[in-house]
Amino acid sequence: MIRTEQAAVCAQLAGPATGLAVHVVARTASTNSDLLAAGSHAETPRCALWALEQQAGRGRNGRSWLSAEGSLCFSLRWPFTRSGGALLGLPLAVAVACCQGLEDLGVTGLTIKWPNDLLRRERKVGGILVEVAGTGAVIGIGLNVVLDAATATALGPAAADVQTAGMPALPRALVLATLLNRLVPAMERFEVEGFGAFREAWTTRAAWLGRTVRLGDAVEGTLLGVDASGALRVLTAQGEQRGMVGDLSLRTLERPA
Ligand code: ATP
Repeated sequence: MIRTEQAAVCAQLAGPATGLAVHVVARTASTNSDLLAAGSHAETPRCALWALEQQAGRGRNGRSWLSAEGSLCFSLRWPFTRSGGALLGLPLAVAVACCQGLEDLGVTGLTIKWPNDLLRRERKVGGILVEVAGTGAVIGIGLNVVLDAATATALGPAAADVQTAGMPALPRALVLATLLNRLVPAMERFEVEGFGAFREAWTTRAAWLGRTVRLGDAVEGTLLGVDASGALRVLTAQGEQRGMVGDLSLRTLERPA
């Protein structure tokens, strides 16, 4: 099973992703934790780890990511030479690449909630957790390919899956390969050009542009977009304020039309 899935992913890697080391495990607590614990390996500084079952997925700030049989949970380790500050926009670039991969598979109507949540019709279909380790990063992605009834009930109406969003029923190996085929060239580009190269693609998919939002506890105003570093721009009564990618959460104060 594991070897079959691994062969299926590798056979469908294309372009710059061809030959990427892809490891598959039956189950683990967290693919991000595993890659962080493994450290960087000189022979495979770039690699992906797919857990067919992830039992304790992590979100930001100690939150958890729930997954079930129809989930795709994997991490990508990438050795950047840029410093920590230059990686602030990385989660946004990853979100763009994930959207593009899902769009390649026929998913429509995806938006990105700053910095990096993947939404469809205001419901979360995927989560991204970027953890920087030294100059490298471990990029974890959890995607609801198809939610079974019990998991959908447990997650509530704030969650959705991509299979009901225009994507036909596809093997998870193909979904993973398609995402990696977008992520690998995106990471290569990010290394050279930074977030600025992704800003337009991010903005065209941004959720809540022009709407009234709250960022963290203090900043409230109209969402203008992001700057070239990935910081959120909000027009408040006191003028424009920027929020860096960090622990801040963005919420809308309006019900979208
Ligand atoms: P932020 O806006 O700051 O990113 P968040 O609530 O989206 O906040 P994350 O850390 O990005 O938090 O993601 C974890 C949260 O996502 C969980 O607390 C839960 O609300 C939600 N969640 C967990 N598993 C799933 C899933 N499979 N599908 C959709 N949503 C999920």
